[in-house]
Amino acid sequence: MVAIDGPMGSGKGTVARLVARALGFRHVDTGAMYRAVAWKALREGVPLDDLQAVAELARRTRVDLDTEPEGNRVWCDGEDVTDAIRSVQVNAAVRRVAANAGVRSVLTERQRSLAREGGVVVEGRDIGTVVLPDADLKVYLVASLDERARRRWQELRARGEDVSLEAVRELVREDDEAAQTRAVAPLRRAEDAVVVDSTSRSPEEVAEEIARLVRSRVARGG
Ligand code: C5P
Repeated sequence: MVAIDGPMGSGKGTVARLVARALGFRHVDTGAMYRAVAWKALREGVPLDDLQAVAELARRTRVDLDTEPEGNRVWCDGEDVTDAIRSVQVNAAVRRVAANAGVRSVLTERQRSLAREGGVVVEGRDIGTVVLPDADLKVYLVASLDERARRRWQELRARGEDVSLEAVRELVREDDEAAQTRAVAPLRRAEDAVVVDSTSRSPEEVAEEIARLVRSRVARGG
């Protein structure tokens, strides 16, 4: 089991997928699960400050992930929400869903069961600290705020969203703050995590470094 944590725009998604491909592992994007719950709460008009209602919604929602490293589809109760969960609206709402302790406990359990069989790269914010404290390798991926904002902006633009770089920078900064200061499962580096900086490096380069780390741990016997 490989755990990759880091802030928004650190490159986790792309890197985790490349690491999974290099090692022949599955890939679990836990952020997509929080996004799917946020998407459904918005669609059903459940107020995000009604913590119990949102946790209840998480409990009764089925989220399926494509764990093949080549795929990235996400289904919510059987409906393909791959693109919908990346919208500006979901971006703005998801951090409130992620701060909900009831939602976190439901999704944490599902993430553990997806990882149980091993051979998996799990990416998120609390994987090394909460979800998989026994992961074989924990990576804490970082990059400068400017670079992370630029990456997320390019992603949104490629998706046809009309949004300014400045607005995205603010969103990324807010997400950092929300993720680092929330009461439950805040984003932080696990003590035994390896810090990898992706600023000015290609995802391929970073993934290669991580795959090497995994292989050398396996060669050393864990
Ligand atoms: O990584 P991504 O941007 O898709 O994450 C979506 C949201 O879910 C972010 O607000 C992030 O802080 C939160 N999240 C979380 N715990 C995880 C994965 C994501 O709180 N394990």
